[in-house]
Amino acid sequence: MTNAATLLHELISRPTPLKIKDRLAIPVQEMPELDATYRARSLDEVATGFTPEMAQLEAIRCLQCKRPACVEGCPVHIDIPAFIQHIANNDMRGAIDKIKETSLLPAICGRVCPQESQCQENCTVGKSLKSVDNAVAIGRLERYAADWERLHNEVKIPEVKPNTRKKVAVIGSGPAGLVVAADVRREGHEVVIFEAFHKLGGVLRYGIPEFRLPKEIVDREIDTLAKMGVQFRLNFVIGRTRKVSDLFKKDGFDAVFIGTGAGLPMFMGIEGENLVGVFAANEYLTRTNLMRAFDKGHAATPLWQGKQVAVLGGGNVAMDAARMAMRMGADSVKLIYRRTEAEMPARVEEVHHAKAEGIEFCYLQNATRILGDTNGRVRAMECIRFELGEPDASGRRSPVEIKGSEFELEVDTVLVAIGNGSNPLIPQTTPDLKIDKKGHVLVDALTNKTFMERVFAGGDIVLGAATVILAMGEGRRAAHSINELLASESLAKEA
Ligand code: FAD
Ligand code: SF4
Repeated sequence: MTNAATLLHELISRPTPLKIKDRLAIPVQEMPELDATYRARSLDEVATGFTPEMAQLEAIRCLQCKRPACVEGCPVHIDIPAFIQHIANNDMRGAIDKIKETSLLPAICGRVCPQESQCQENCTVGKSLKSVDNAVAIGRLERYAADWERLHNEVKIPEVKPNTRKKVAVIGSGPAGLVVAADVRREGHEVVIFEAFHKLGGVLRYGIPEFRLPKEIVDREIDTLAKMGVQFRLNFVIGRTRKVSDLFKKDGFDAVFIGTGAGLPMFMGIEGENLVGVFAANEYLTRTNLMRAFDKGHAATPLWQGKQVAVLGGGNVAMDAARMAMRMGADSVKLIYRRTEAEMPARVEEVHHAKAEGIEFCYLQNATRILGDTNGRVRAMECIRFELGEPDASGRRSPVEIKGSEFELEVDTVLVAIGNGSNPLIPQTTPDLKIDKKGHVLVDALTNKTFMERVFAGGDIVLGAATVILAMGEGRRAAHSINELLASESLAKEA
């Protein structure tokens, strides 16, 4: 028997119910993961998932708080204690059904949500044990329940109401668009997703790498939508192939949802960014994930084989790009960040994984120029050192340049991961939409309705680069508004 199995057996054999102190004494179940040296060169998923005993034991750590603070911290308000209680009782069907009452993509959210700053941050167990690291592992339990459903071929296809003869167009197939498609289709409306790429899933497909989110999981979620009768138009760029207004006039749609994300890469604006070997991290990840450049010898899209790689930035995108560069065969990957680890926006777990895989973290420095050789290829990068000054508007201490501290770093590849903006194509071709200075589409915060009749928007195109769960939350709100609009029109017609 494993340690977890032995302890679980001992706890469930006790003749009296467990007290709070018994539950608090159960050790946090650490997520099993692949060996760092092996996984740094492989696309296999790093975190391998709880065993059934570990999941049940972790679930028993939950105190079933009367006023569960964890639920407040979850953007879609999953009934966390209820689903965890089902796992504690080894009732996996009950657990996944409870989660799916509010969350459509639990296998994905359980893997990529920043739980440590959402549900788990508020957990009473974590607070009692004085660290968020000791909170009940809500995300990992969510993943466990969703994986159980998929691996046991128990996935239920949501019921679809009879055809209403109303048509809804969803632009973009990221998490926001997928949630809208499911929620609107359930009401019996016809749904067509228009996607610019040749594959569906948005950032879940082209951004977040296989070793964090296996694409088989994204495929299964999309398969469920297909079985519900959602239709897909791939390689279809709205704003170019068709304008938003054409979807109403030419194609007869009754409502449109815009979920086109924040895929426009930003650059530093420094000398040398046009040299061969400089990539926007998003492009680098798209080539490796979507175009499968990792499949060397077979991929239609070859990729520059960087050996000495520098990644500029400190968020999740930077972390993914650095870890992918290592897997693509780099000898050394340096992550260059202007502040210190304490200010880094990336998830703690990703930083921990990246370090274990050999990524070198270089704090308090940034690039000032990228230097090329006579063939126009990157040969080095000039950097400057920083110290931390006063907190800025984000509350983080701002980096202040140390004059005269420039130095040169030998690199052949630079991946720029300093943020993404919203794609301007739809706003440019849809004059009735209103946008803010950063190009985000303006919506009513309660309904996600834009300033254009029958047009709704949500996800990163509204929020700026945010998170999967926030995009899903926006999608859910927009779908609710679309369903209300279409239902009210049907009622008016009947009257
Ligand atoms: P997207 O996922 O960006 O999807 C938009 C879709 O619209 C795309 O498929 C795009 O091709 C399509 N599209 C764009 N324009 C058009 C058009 N004109 N016509 C038709 N289709 C169009 N969040 C987390 O919570 N955890 C993480 O660990 C995490 N890691 C990330 C790692 C990377 C590398 C990146 C880039 C982001 C990460 N995020 C993470 C952020 C998260 O993925 C996004 O917030 C989320 O995907 C936004 O969803 P969305 O539906 O708004 O847009
Ligand atoms: Fe369980 Fe923590 Fe939520 Fe309380 S706050 S119900 S202990 S997960």
